[in-house]
Amino acid sequence: MTDTSLSKLQHEFCLKPNQADSLRIITNDSSNIFEAIEKGQQFVAISAMDQEELNNKGKVATMDANFKELLDFENRVRNQTLTMNALSDRIMAGEKIKDIIVPYKQVQKLFEDKWNNNEKRYNASDKYSTFRQNIWNIHHPDEIMPSLDENEDDDIVMGSTKISLRCPLTTAWLEDPVTSNMCKHTFSKAAITDLLRQSGGSVPCPIPGCNKRIVSLCLIADDTMAERVRRAKERDELNASTTQYFDVE
Ligand SMILES: [Zn+2]
Repeated sequence: MTDTSLSKLQHEFCLKPNQADSLRIITNDSSNIFEAIEKGQQFVAISAMDQEELNNKGKVATMDANFKELLDFENRVRNQTLTMNALSDRIMAGEKIKDIIVPYKQVQKLFEDKWNNNEKRYNASDKYSTFRQNIWNIHHPDEIMPSLDENEDDDIVMGSTKISLRCPLTTAWLEDPVTSNMCKHTFSKAAITDLLRQSGGSVPCPIPGCNKRIVSLCLIADDTMAERVRRAKERDELNASTTQYFDVE
């Protein structure tokens, strides 16, 4: 092959629609990463609850920083997926992209800037407010958590509602809690699995007002919630035995 034909080939080369498909295949692999990040977040959340119980404020602050770092990481992976999909769409639409690195960096930067420039990114995250709520509940089990954002109006505060530790289906303590990654509602595993089995594998979320559907694939084991239930039960038993003790007099 002569130099001219090689440079001609290089000049004419661009990504084709069938290659765009492989961009999407790459991003399908990221579900494993999300699972690992989720596990990491649950681990940090439980450690933070332990440290709060011991009144180790410094350690709780470190866990808080770790949790935020994991949220940033999660967002970066999500941005990568969005970037790949956006590029794949452009190639499918007939755009001639020669060097994918340049547009990749451009699109990725747009997503990253949007995240990093949002000062309220943590407070606006459901995961972060749940994380803070779990820590708050250690010493204030029956009190509403104050707003994470002091400037926010009280009526739009997120994460200030008490999260029920009872299964909405059985009304008993959550057992092997699983949380839907579509709507963040939590159920006892056996109860929701039974319901799914009776309904052919897919049901509208049983929580009134929730318009998402539940399928078994979207149910994630919720270690943090399991830990909260364990602590709440322990607290209840302790209260019960103390009451009993005082009742004797
Ligand atoms: Zn729901």
